[in-house]
Amino acid sequence: MKTIQHWIDGAAHGGAASRTTPVFNPATGEERARVALGGSAEVDAAVAAASRAFETWSETSVSRRTQVMFAFRQLLVEHEEELGRLISAEHGKTIDDARGEIVRGREVVEFACGLGDVLKGSFSDQVSNGVDVHDFRQPLGVVAGITPFNFPAMVPLWMHPIALATGNTFLLKPSERDPSAAEFVAGLYRRAGLPDGVFNVVHGGKEAVDAILTHPGIEAVSFVGSTPVARYVHESATRAGKRVQALGGAKNHAVVLPDADLEFAANHLTAGAYGSAGERCMAVSVAVAVGAAADGLVEVLARKAREVKVGPGDAPGTEMGPLVTRDARERVENAVGTAAAQGATVVVDGRGLKVDDHPECADGFFTGPSLLDHVTPEMDAYKEELFGPVLAVVRVDTLDEAIALINANPYGNGTALFTASGEAARRFQRRVKVGMIGVNVPVPVPMSYYSFGGWKDSLIGDSPIHGPEGVRFYTRPKVVTTRWPRPAQQADAGFTFPTSS
Ligand code: NAD
Repeated sequence: MKTIQHWIDGAAHGGAASRTTPVFNPATGEERARVALGGSAEVDAAVAAASRAFETWSETSVSRRTQVMFAFRQLLVEHEEELGRLISAEHGKTIDDARGEIVRGREVVEFACGLGDVLKGSFSDQVSNGVDVHDFRQPLGVVAGITPFNFPAMVPLWMHPIALATGNTFLLKPSERDPSAAEFVAGLYRRAGLPDGVFNVVHGGKEAVDAILTHPGIEAVSFVGSTPVARYVHESATRAGKRVQALGGAKNHAVVLPDADLEFAANHLTAGAYGSAGERCMAVSVAVAVGAAADGLVEVLARKAREVKVGPGDAPGTEMGPLVTRDARERVENAVGTAAAQGATVVVDGRGLKVDDHPECADGFFTGPSLLDHVTPEMDAYKEELFGPVLAVVRVDTLDEAIALINANPYGNGTALFTASGEAARRFQRRVKVGMIGVNVPVPVPMSYYSFGGWKDSLIGDSPIHGPEGVRFYTRPKVVTTRWPRPAQQADAGFTFPTSS
């Protein structure tokens, strides 16, 4: 059985061979590989390699750095199918869905290909007599990314293309549940001409993370994952003097007004709730049905939830794959039971689903789509991030009540409004306390040249990811004040604090 190794200084790095953990194929429940578990020794080795590489990479011209990005982008295009299959085999999502995440991640590489433009500084002529001012931005040094299982290609791609194109060197600590995408991407970078040591991967769990958070050679940490770990990462790395961006969990509400096209809204809510088995930080997990929309909406949602084709991610026609682990399935199915016990109506019950057409999947981690109605904010199914294919319907009377509900929720990642009213849409987008908003768009993930980030418990600290905020995060500014005096001006130095003249 294959052991997925760390990637340090342009080569596979064994680490302590005995320290590994299994990687499963969630569709069959079988162990498909093992992954090395790193700790401080592997993080030390990766930081040493990245520090050495920084000396030359940070001095490499912007043109040369972006040429590597162009080559890397082309390799991502050529290997989309292969990488998509690899992601599907460890995560469980469909191959098409995996290709979708590769495309969205590739868009960040495309943004990084144009960084020459974004990195332009400003220049002020003659701010004082014979004095000009300009500014420019420089890379930080060695930076690290710690990423979740649910987008093993896209979320790291939110980070490393911008970090590298701005001249930093990178250490990725991917999720130990689906580590192969990181190994694959490291190989593509090498083929694209990235020098050894510029991009490194250390696998593992908390031990590897802790080694990163306290390592004196790491300047900045990007984290995406659940809120408790985001908070821990933010506090620990900030205490160690690092720059941190830490994106957390979510509970995304989609509000449906009575004037919305219910068939259209339900179609999009179904895809947004059950796509990728609900394991997306932008998944729709709460449908807020306003007034007269409720009965009709629940009826259409129930019909569509029953029609979702559940199966292995590599089977043609599959719309929803398994959950990532057996534990995740148990947690999600228990949550449906708890919701029923707390008074919610289980309109569609996905528990115990068997994928009969695929006998090889008898031990896979499948659960079906579940639809809960009459959920209230006091219920666990509303309060907790279930991260599974469960859509909870909360009924309210007005749009203002829907906005108040969303604003009282501790999370604020994404939200959507389905309506035919421009006035309602404008009121919603201005008043709702959420970072990313869709109007008749259920999963409003911003394009790579905007930044991605939620509010409240969905983002700890103050730094969203990629786009202009990514460039800001991975660089720091310098401002230069310049004078080229003529001989006659040599003597005009004064003891008072300098002001313009
Ligand atoms: P997770 O928080 O369990 O793990 C994320 C990373 O942290 C992994 O690399 C993991 O190895 C590490 N980790 C886990 N526990 C740790 C601990 N106690 N100490 C130190 N490191 C630890 O998240 P996950 O289950 O892999 O991913 C799902 C979560 O990520 C969901 O909450 C989802 O909403 C969130 N997410 C958020 C966004 C966003 O943009 N806000 C995007 C994707 C996923």
